[in-house]
Amino acid sequence: MPLPVVAIIGRPNVGKSTIVNRLAQVQDAIVYDEPGVTRDRTYKRSYWGDREFLVVDTGGLVFDDDSEFLPHIREQAMAALTEASAAIFVVDGQQGVTTSDEEIAAWLRQQSVPVLLAVNKCESVEQGYTQAAEFWSLGLGEPIPVSGIHGNGTGDLLDQVIEFLPPVSEVEETDEIRVAIVGRPNVGKSSLLNAFVGENRAIVSPISGTTRDAIDMVVEREGQTYRLIDTAGIRKKKNVEYGPEFFGINRAFKAIARADVALLVIDALDGVTEQDQKLAGRVTDEGRGCVLVINKWDAIEKDSQTIYDYEREVRARLHYLDWAETIFISALTGQRVEKILDLVNTSAEQNKRRISTAVINEVLEDAARWHTPPTTRGGRQGKIYYGTQVSTAPPTIVLFVNDPELFGDSYRRYIERQFRESLGFTGTPIRLLWRGKKVRDMERSVNRATKV
Ligand code: GDP
Ligand code: GDP
Repeated sequence: MPLPVVAIIGRPNVGKSTIVNRLAQVQDAIVYDEPGVTRDRTYKRSYWGDREFLVVDTGGLVFDDDSEFLPHIREQAMAALTEASAAIFVVDGQQGVTTSDEEIAAWLRQQSVPVLLAVNKCESVEQGYTQAAEFWSLGLGEPIPVSGIHGNGTGDLLDQVIEFLPPVSEVEETDEIRVAIVGRPNVGKSSLLNAFVGENRAIVSPISGTTRDAIDMVVEREGQTYRLIDTAGIRKKKNVEYGPEFFGINRAFKAIARADVALLVIDALDGVTEQDQKLAGRVTDEGRGCVLVINKWDAIEKDSQTIYDYEREVRARLHYLDWAETIFISALTGQRVEKILDLVNTSAEQNKRRISTAVINEVLEDAARWHTPPTTRGGRQGKIYYGTQVSTAPPTIVLFVNDPELFGDSYRRYIERQFRESLGFTGTPIRLLWRGKKVRDMERSVNRATKV
């Protein structure tokens, strides 16, 4: 199930991007950029309690100016709103109500999405409620005083936001697995596609994807259907003149974004290249499952040791994907092509896996017993209170700790290794979010106290 989206709306300079960054907490956590013409919409992952969602900044919304690119931004905001479960309308508490605010409010009142009104720049908690009170006039319910810069009030805001998110469903049972075949030109992608289509006879039919020229092909094998994403892209170069250096990375990125599992095809004769590393990085960033397909294995001169040496080399060059399985195939002779889909099944299954909180905490307790969390020179020791899985695809686990700063990279990697050793997760990336519990609780109690 895709993550619910929360759209941030408001005129320019009220502090929308400051608030987005505050809510995202992990500053570099951009999920993906939708390539827009003038302004990209940027989604960031955010979570509160045990809920995870995406926050999207819609760009500044202006109604009273029809200059050149404003209609476009407005369109973007409207598009963002149609996919959102809730919207946060940000206004400037220091400036008070402006005409633009009133116009945006009038428009928002006509939309079906629930709207929360955040009155930003209320650093002073005492003055905050007075500053915010003025915004009752917008007719959007209770104004919530916040400060994007200092963070106060955002806990209250988030408490209300998650009320509007759709309930978390159990593991989604989809009947098809979406597969993206990606790789450099000439590694054998279309040969592999043909092999799939040839061997798995039950071809349903080509089905058009989201854009006009992205054609998906659906094949069936042992009762499982596979949607091969953007097969037109895989075959395209046959009809169009591209230079030898043409890579089509954007197209590959889009296919990865739509897939459950990416087949990263590597030419055994060339080995892993920089372009393969780029694709590998993207697969990890998007949290997709992956199988490393080493093609043209028929063309390699080999002895009994070759495959091990080769695998070691591939892994060393693609350390991002140390969780992915490798398979050595020949699209030309068909050798092991069938087996790829077994690995795809595992990868898709693991990517959607949900682990109970009880099991997660067993692993954590065990891990901490073998290897206690680090202590600073000042004698402060890291403590993991508990963990819980907040989403799938990829499996994402929030760890509530006393202070995330106390946990360095090596301990974090250790915990991830423990999860993998105990729970598997073969073929999928996993995400661990380290979250300080104290700060948030303190902030909430401050807000509660000042409200009464
Ligand atoms: P956007 O155009 O709505 O995305 O606004 P920005 O996030 O870029 O912020 C606009 C200006 O308001 C910047 O100078 C920010 O530093 C300032 N700002 C943002 N949030 C706050 C806040 O909570 N308090 C104060 N005093 N200024 C803020
Ligand atoms: P794409 O650009 O990634 O779609 O690559 P193609 O499927 O068009 O293959 C490029 C070239 O590699 C063609 O000449 C294929 O015949 C050849 N090729 C593809 N798969 C194999 C294979 O498994 N073994 C060998 N020896 N050649 C292959």
